[in-house]
Parts: sequence; structure tokens; C-alpha cells
Amino acid sequence: MLEEFAQEQPIAYKILKNTIDNDKYSHAYLFETNGYYNSIPLVFSFVKAILCPNHGHHQDPCPICQMIDSQNYPELQVIKPDGLWIKKEQLVNLKEEFNQKALMGSKKVYVILEAEKLNQSSANSILKFLEEPEENIIAILVTNNIYQMLNTIISRCQKISLKEGAKPLNVEDTETKLNLILFNKKDIDEVLSEKIKKVINFPKYYENHHLETIVYMNVVWHDYIKNKDELLMAFDILIMYYKDVLNSLLNIKLDYFNTYENDIKTVAQKNNLESICHKLKILLEYKEKIKFNMNTNLLMDELIISFERR
Ligand SMILES: [Zn+2]
Repeated sequence: MLEEFAQEQPIAYKILKNTIDNDKYSHAYLFETNGYYNSIPLVFSFVKAILCPNHGHHQDPCPICQMIDSQNYPELQVIKPDGLWIKKEQLVNLKEEFNQKALMGSKKVYVILEAEKLNQSSANSILKFLEEPEENIIAILVTNNIYQMLNTIISRCQKISLKEGAKPLNVEDTETKLNLILFNKKDIDEVLSEKIKKVINFPKYYENHHLETIVYMNVVWHDYIKNKDELLMAFDILIMYYKDVLNSLLNIKLDYFNTYENDIKTVAQKNNLESICHKLKILLEYKEKIKFNMNTNLLMDELIISFERR
């Protein structure tokens, strides 16, 4: 529900709420996320407010909201970069899909994530879309880097600027607990310490077996990561792990995993600066994807493939 964001993003909330209450939508919105950690859930709660007959207000999600969550709702198209760029073909598909009349409701929404990655030709075709808006089609562009976008696109959208929010609690939580475990041995949380050990088994295994790891994911990952929260936490641990691999490669003191210094060193020897930065970037990207409720088995397979693809 959009209300969840009223405190953290009061201005954006007011604008969007007003829009919904008056049923007066712009043809195009540009969300400038400014690194706000919860920007994707916020955008999708706005999408629900537009497409769900109850504007996303119900205790249990309705079938439409559920379809939006799993990105199976026919009146919603979500476009994200295919590789480095959002390609023109991705937008051609969008046009074709939307040329058919709305099946289930009266409005259609397309969301373009990482909109700064529209290249010249895809930007041109989106411009055509924005210049000749069709009734009941709403465009939502999302970017964390508005300065890389064409002014002609920006000027045709209603801009919603989010303010940078605090880090999500679970990151701080993992970090604090991890520090406790690794540096202050008196206060060890047994369960968590077991989890950390298991999670860092994954990069150790992967760095030796690469693509083959996919076959053994049940053992090295799925059997002990049971839900979304655990998955998010596991990603935090992986990110900290690879940050320490980077530290090791640069001969800087480790930030987190001093007790695993030898392991980290071994992994560092198998990498170079470029490959570690690539992995960190992929990890951060995939951590965002978790928020979309993507199938987690598939997500991890794709992660490994992306790790390999440089
Ligand atoms: Zn709903």
C-alpha cells in the first residue's frame, strides 16, 4: 500500500495520493530514486493503486495485485535493461502488446526500470510514445541517474523525486550482528553464525567450480535459504564477503571476515579487480531483483551465469 511510504517519502506520497484520489493521472511519470532503498516497492504500490479496483487497499492481496506482484498482469509491462541497454526491440514488443485493447481493466501501465539505459534508438521510440500519448496508457520511468537521460524525455514526464532514505533495517542488523560474531566472540548468535558459514560456502564453491555450481545449488544454497528475508540477508553477507575479497586483493585490512582470512585470500587470488567489481555489481543488482518476488531458484542460476559473463 502506498500509505506505507507516507512517512519516509511524504512529498512523493502526497502527490501520488492526490493523483489517485482525483483519478487524474499524467501520461508519464519519471521517478528519480536518488538511491532510496525502497524505491521499487514504492513504484509498484503506485502501479497497484492505478490498476487494482481497490487501489491496493485490502488486507489480503486481490488476484490483480497478486498478478502485479508476479508480473503476470496483462495490462502491466515491465521493461528492464537487456544487458547494458534497453533495446529498441524491447519497446517494439511493448507497442505490439499494448496495441490490443485492455483485457481486464481500463488502464494499462508500462514501467521502465533503469530508464537511463535507454540508448539513442530506444529513447527515440519511447519519445514517440510520450509525444503521442494514448488514452489510458500510463508510462512510469524509473531512474537513479537522471543526468544520463535525454532532456526531451525528462521534460515530457511528471517528475517524482524521492529522497534518499535510511538503509533498510535488515542490512544494518546483519552488519551489526556480523560484527558481533566476527569481532566480539562473547556474544555469538549460534544460529546466525551457522548461517553465515553456510552462505560463504557458496562463493568458496563457486570460485572453484563456476558454471557447474548450478547443478549443486540445492546443496550449496537452496536447502538452507527458506524465505525472502533469509535470501536478502544471504545477499548482504555475500556482498560483505566480496567487499573483503576486494580488500584482500588491495592489501587492505579486512572489514568483516578476519576469521576467514585464508579463505578470502584464496578467492582473491582467483580474481582480479575487474572480476570482483563485476561480481559486486551483479550482487547489488540481484539483491534488488529479490524485491520483485522473482523465483529464487531461477534467480540464483541467473546470478551464476551473470557472474561468468564478463
Ligand atoms: Zn488489489
